[in-house]
Amino acid sequence: MHKTLLRIAVPSPLYRSFDYLLPDGTDASTLKNGVRVRVPFGRRTVIGVLLAVTSESAVETHKLKRALAILDREPVLNADVLAMVQWASDYYHHPIGDALTAALPVLLRQGEAPEASAIPAWRLTAAGSAVDSGTLARAARQQAIMTALQQQPQGLARSALEAPANVLHTLQDKGWIEPFNLEPATGCCNTSASPHTLNPAQQHAVDSILARFGEFAPFLLEGVTGSGKTEVYLTLVEQALSQQQQALVLVPEIGLTPQLVDRFQQRFPVPLAVLHSGLSDRERLNAWQLARKGTAPVIIGTRSAIFTPLLRPGLIIVDEEHDASLKQQDGFRYSARDLAIWRARRLDIPVVLGSATPSLESLLNVEQERYQRLDLPERTGIARPPTFRLIDVREQRLEDGLSAPLLAHMHQHLDAGGQVLLFLNRRGFAPTLMCYGCDWVAECRRCDARLTWHRHDNRLHCHHCGSQRPVDTVCPSCKGTDLHPVGQGTERVEQALAEHFPAIENIRIDRDTTRRKGELDRLLEQARSGASRLLLGTQMLAKGHHFPNVTLVGILDADHGLFSTDFRASERMAQLIVQVAGRAGRHERPGEVLIQTCHPEHPLLQLLITEGYPAFARAALTERRSAQMPPITRLALLRAEAASADTAMGFLATVQQRIRATGLPGVEVWGPVPATMERRAGRFRAQLLLQSAQLGALQRLLSTLVRELEVSRAARQVRWSVDVDPVDT
Ligand code: ADP
Ligand code: ZN
Ligand code: ZN
Repeated sequence: MHKTLLRIAVPSPLYRSFDYLLPDGTDASTLKNGVRVRVPFGRRTVIGVLLAVTSESAVETHKLKRALAILDREPVLNADVLAMVQWASDYYHHPIGDALTAALPVLLRQGEAPEASAIPAWRLTAAGSAVDSGTLARAARQQAIMTALQQQPQGLARSALEAPANVLHTLQDKGWIEPFNLEPATGCCNTSASPHTLNPAQQHAVDSILARFGEFAPFLLEGVTGSGKTEVYLTLVEQALSQQQQALVLVPEIGLTPQLVDRFQQRFPVPLAVLHSGLSDRERLNAWQLARKGTAPVIIGTRSAIFTPLLRPGLIIVDEEHDASLKQQDGFRYSARDLAIWRARRLDIPVVLGSATPSLESLLNVEQERYQRLDLPERTGIARPPTFRLIDVREQRLEDGLSAPLLAHMHQHLDAGGQVLLFLNRRGFAPTLMCYGCDWVAECRRCDARLTWHRHDNRLHCHHCGSQRPVDTVCPSCKGTDLHPVGQGTERVEQALAEHFPAIENIRIDRDTTRRKGELDRLLEQARSGASRLLLGTQMLAKGHHFPNVTLVGILDADHGLFSTDFRASERMAQLIVQVAGRAGRHERPGEVLIQTCHPEHPLLQLLITEGYPAFARAALTERRSAQMPPITRLALLRAEAASADTAMGFLATVQQRIRATGLPGVEVWGPVPATMERRAGRFRAQLLLQSAQLGALQRLLSTLVRELEVSRAARQVRWSVDVDPVDT
């Protein structure tokens, strides 16, 4: 008789799976890959995931341990997600058990049952169906609910009704509506009609993608800001739903784009599964279940939502595909965008990458005809592209970061009734505290970084390790008291705005002003409604929002990024400028963008503002080609972190010599070098860069390397990690 063994991925830092004997009394023929199994591991009991049932093991049978229990009848990870994580574990050289754990909601990792959750919903009673909602004209919120429910005879999820509980209860007391639990939907709903007729470019994009439903087809939807990309997504999702399919929509950060979720919710009065980092473990499991059971036809989430199992997958959309947050930057360092492509191929479905400022990676894929490019070259309706102007701040005296020409334009736009948006990617009051007596500056004791002075608590904060201390009043170096804040953060500019424009309400949006739950939504609503006419913020304010009355955008400091050690810095800067600028003139009134810089002659900056992002991107890609940098070649980083700089550097130097000695053709090794910020939170960091024009050669080298490091004694002196396709180098 064949012996039956379970091959199991166990949460651990080891690069392998483990074989176990069947639990007593288990019928192996009923087991499905992807179920959870409780197993003994070392001295602990852990929960692993079944990868395969097998009859052979490299370990002798009498040495194998017996699994304790099978936790699921149906896989918690269905076949495509399981295969994707296995592939990603190989590609990113991350331990399989750890990778699978990252893919599961926390409660499932802890052994909870994946039970289907009831979805609270409301529907009309017979009496309610007969009500003429026109009679409720003086109770607008009641009327809105009645109208919505009359359009959806099968009822609506509570989450789809934008109404406070007391209004629902009033209607319930009248006997017009009743609560019930929505059953997992098999079909979909009446979607609300699109408020717009698609323009020809949108229609062409939709038609091209629709023609490929049911097969693998990757698209790059390149649409200038305000060109109606979201409207294209909505139309495609509507089509998927009408074919009883689910659509998965990945976005960089949900907190920053509540409008996007709102638009989906308004168009599709179905339970949306919304997955983001702000959820409780219970909420996350619920949303995940809605997706897995097919109850939620639309799943919107940040990067880890790529691991959500879907019952009837039909379409994947990755919005803002260039955004760095789609790449996980610690632990399991996957790119959700790249996994989306992999998963769509596996599922034979289309995948749409959308952006106003596509990554050079995706543009190269278009050039090589792997992706089909679809273009939305113009803003919708009568909105025109904004005009750009550079302000040379070398010749200006700045008042708290604001140049005279910028101030003059702000007055003009405000007088004309417009809104003004100022962008400064630096929070706090001043990024430096300096002694004028001896040039001493306040630095973090645990990082190679300056401390930022925050006015609200009058303390110095490190933005890298989170440590803080009181503001120095005496210079620790010369004992003088001539200490001054130097440079501008958003707090300082906010104060300056209040002085320059005392009659105009301003709001500041950054991490500090939006810590409390609901605060970001409240501030964004104030910006949107026009109640505040002066908007100031960091990149939280820059992306995705639609503020119809903003006519002037001021970028206070564009220079960060022009001269940086990271070869991607100029690409990032260009994307950010275009995104921020995209907030201007999205309605009737034309928009204007002013950019303060010390380098107005910089060729890439010039190209960007005179010819636009596509021209910039072409030039940047040419530069990468001649420098043989990504996306032309592939990179991987081996990072090491230790209590001393010598340990980290020494370890990487040994690795480097090892690689040289084995002499792998086709891979170049650079370094080791200290990380850009060598010391962070008291630890010293260094890195070794591996580069190759052949992905295969690089991958083979990494496989060998990781296997060696796993058992190497030297490697235990440091914390090391591999980052394939790193986004910050
Ligand atoms: P993007 O996602 O490219 O920034 P949106 O889809 O948000 O663009 O569209 C920008 C604005 O134009 C929105 O207010 C949207 O409602 C509107 N809009 C989109 N498509 C059309 C259209 N075909 N006709 C008129 N307005 C449209
Ligand atoms: Zn001093
Ligand atoms: Zn620090």
